[in-house]
Amino acid sequence: MRKPTRRREVGRGERVLPGVWRLRLPLPWPGVPHCNAWALAAGDGIVLVDTGMHEPGSMAHLERALDQAALRPEHVRLIVCTHAHVDHCGEAPALRARTGAEVWMHPAHGHVHAGDETPEQTIARRVEVARQSGVPEGPLRRWAEQRRSTGTGMSGELVVDRELVPGTTVATDLGEWQVVETPGHAPSHVCLHQPERRLLLSGDHLLGRVSLYFDEGHTPDPVQEFQDSLDRVGALDARLALAGHGRPFTDVAAHVAANRALVAERLHGVRAALAQGPGTAYELTGRVHGDEFSEETASWLLAMTRSWLTHLERRGEATRGAAGEPGGAEIWS
Ligand SMILES: [Zn+2]
Ligand SMILES: [Zn+2]
Repeated sequence: MRKPTRRREVGRGERVLPGVWRLRLPLPWPGVPHCNAWALAAGDGIVLVDTGMHEPGSMAHLERALDQAALRPEHVRLIVCTHAHVDHCGEAPALRARTGAEVWMHPAHGHVHAGDETPEQTIARRVEVARQSGVPEGPLRRWAEQRRSTGTGMSGELVVDRELVPGTTVATDLGEWQVVETPGHAPSHVCLHQPERRLLLSGDHLLGRVSLYFDEGHTPDPVQEFQDSLDRVGALDARLALAGHGRPFTDVAAHVAANRALVAERLHGVRAALAQGPGTAYELTGRVHGDEFSEETASWLLAMTRSWLTHLERRGEATRGAAGEPGGAEIWS
């Protein structure tokens, strides 16, 4: 049987507010058909917040989206990335080279695109983590092969001209945007807040459709960091969120509350799985997610399970047992 072909997405641009355009850029990922870059009017040009990932044809999609907003890459005066995931910063090196615009980003971006690590070393590091989590050899080998056959999503080496930290402001025609550190989804995640207009560029920290993901293994407790970031963003009293995926949304407070509720629900699920007896992270993921846990979702769900377990471990609710044999999987109880 032939696989159904997905309708080919193309780059689109639309004005959301005077001086704010949403640039919807296609992604090659199942379940995540596109991401948003945001163009903000700034003098005779624009500030571009996020860039989309780099893959064949991606610059043409960005050009097309900009064109629908009567803009061109040459209008880009500054590139700001909300965090170091390729769908948000992949095209930044190419755009920087093409436009001469600076790239601003939070300093904690280094762990994702470590300059001294080859793609093969990155795969090897992730295979090691997966083995520790109890992933069987077959799926692990297939995952590594698939990773080798796809690009990195980056258009070159990420060069950051200025650190995006609290106190740094981004000047636009809508006023100055303030940097709010929001680690959890990624250590380098920031939101940009425009207090007079009560606008929030929320990246992947807050999405219209609640969806959780944590970059684990780089900081002590991404789940706690994420919850602290929710507190920080909830206190801003923003009125409209311009997110990294999907449509803009209002009722920011309700979205913060929905994220908190989902965190509590997931932690409850992992506690219940642990109550059934000790297991590897892989086994526990199967217990929590059942049929939803497939080779396609495995690396995503497994990263989530490791995040929840790490959080519970720090709260004294879970214990990580030593691997039975050298290179063996950790057992959680
Ligand atoms: Zn992300
Ligand atoms: Zn994203």
